[in-house]
Amino acid sequence: MSKQPSPPPAPPAAPTQPAPPVEEKKPEKKEKPKAPKRRIQVHKLYKIDGETLGRLRKECPRCGKGYFMAQHGDRLACGHCGYTTYLKS
Ligand SMILES: [Zn+2]
Repeated sequence: MSKQPSPPPAPPAAPTQPAPPVEEKKPEKKEKPKAPKRRIQVHKLYKIDGETLGRLRKECPRCGKGYFMAQHGDRLACGHCGYTTYLKS
């Protein structure tokens, strides 16, 4: 039994430098500045007078109870069905 000379330990592999990150040019997305979303303040749509509750918005004639018309400058609009009435000026 003859001892075979063990091969010398391999030199540590040279640290491979990580490939430089490939710069991918993505099409720039233009973000539009968003206006802050205004939430409707529901409590302003009702008026409590003693024990009675008053509603300050007209109900939609098409949708019926529970659907109130949004009040714009010159018109009332229903967000549910799109019904619009123009206020007489
Ligand atoms: Zn409606």
